[in-house]
Amino acid sequence: MLSSLAKRKVSRRDFMKACAAMAVYLGLSESFAPKIADAVENASKKTPVIWLEGQDCAGCSEAFLNLTEPTPAQIILDTISLKYHETVMFGTGYLADKALDEALKAGNYVLVVEGSIPTADPMFCTAGTMSDTNPARRPVVETLKEAYKKASVVIALGSCASWGGVVQDTPSKGRGVSDIVGKEKVINLPMCPCNPDHLVGTLVYYLTFKKAPPLDIHQRPLMFFGTLIHDNCPRRGHFERGEFVTNYGDPNQAEYCLYLKGCKGPFTFSDCPSRGFNDNVSWCIKASAPCAGCSQPEFYAGFSPLYEKSNDVNLPGIGGVPSETVGTVAAAVTALGVAAHLVGRSVFGKKKEGDK
Ligand code: SF4
Repeated sequence: MLSSLAKRKVSRRDFMKACAAMAVYLGLSESFAPKIADAVENASKKTPVIWLEGQDCAGCSEAFLNLTEPTPAQIILDTISLKYHETVMFGTGYLADKALDEALKAGNYVLVVEGSIPTADPMFCTAGTMSDTNPARRPVVETLKEAYKKASVVIALGSCASWGGVVQDTPSKGRGVSDIVGKEKVINLPMCPCNPDHLVGTLVYYLTFKKAPPLDIHQRPLMFFGTLIHDNCPRRGHFERGEFVTNYGDPNQAEYCLYLKGCKGPFTFSDCPSRGFNDNVSWCIKASAPCAGCSQPEFYAGFSPLYEKSNDVNLPGIGGVPSETVGTVAAAVTALGVAAHLVGRSVFGKKKEGDK
């Protein structure tokens, strides 16, 4: 890095100024500039990461950048070498293209993909600059296919990258990473947005063990997606007693079960009840919003309309199921969910110890 800067007659002073600007980009004070300079100079010793964005709202990047422990700066500066990230990288234009090309050529990187990939027309999502050597903006689907070849592992971050998410049924026909390049190296970390703890945990696992953690049939790490939200929900007791929120304005119903308001917790696997978001300050159900099922492949269209009761589960006094059978119904729902979730496979296609 320094030699290439020297070739371009960039002085140490200008380099440090650029590092100070990068610190501000990361929400740090300029006093972090020496640490950033150190990280840049030692980047070749750390695991390279390429972060591509497809059709997305950058919500997963936002979620990651709002981490508090560890901070994004600690991860970016101390743990990985972030070679390319369209939202937070310092370089722009052809310099950004060059950084991506160099990282792609070097290979052996962790590829993080955020956002879905358009299949209706590749030009619906492009990135890169136009120049004499690069006459057209590059469709993200082409970049993804190229980046996949030399990636050591691929993390599909968020529901859009995992299986299309909210744009799956739009004219772009957005699809997940596995739909484009296959499942072999892909770890799905769905949710809308992703839980940044899942990204950090998966990165740490991969950097430590040099392999993907045990995954379920949807390529999700079992350590984060092995339990049903409904089973660990703090409102489960109200479900069992047939106490449901029907009127948000009634304070007596404030803690009741949200199933009638469209909660997809009985069909959704995630550790939200124990992990929450933002240092476990809150999560959807804690904030009285029904679970939207955003960690499931059915999200979004398959669970729509989100705020209406699902039709395929009978509830006490609601779907003609007597109240005394609620526990049986709940158990049956859980069993169905678990059956659908069974049999994990590793990112490399073999069963691993710990798979269910
Ligand atoms: Fe919790 Fe939703 Fe299950 Fe009710 S239906 S207990 S709110 S997960």
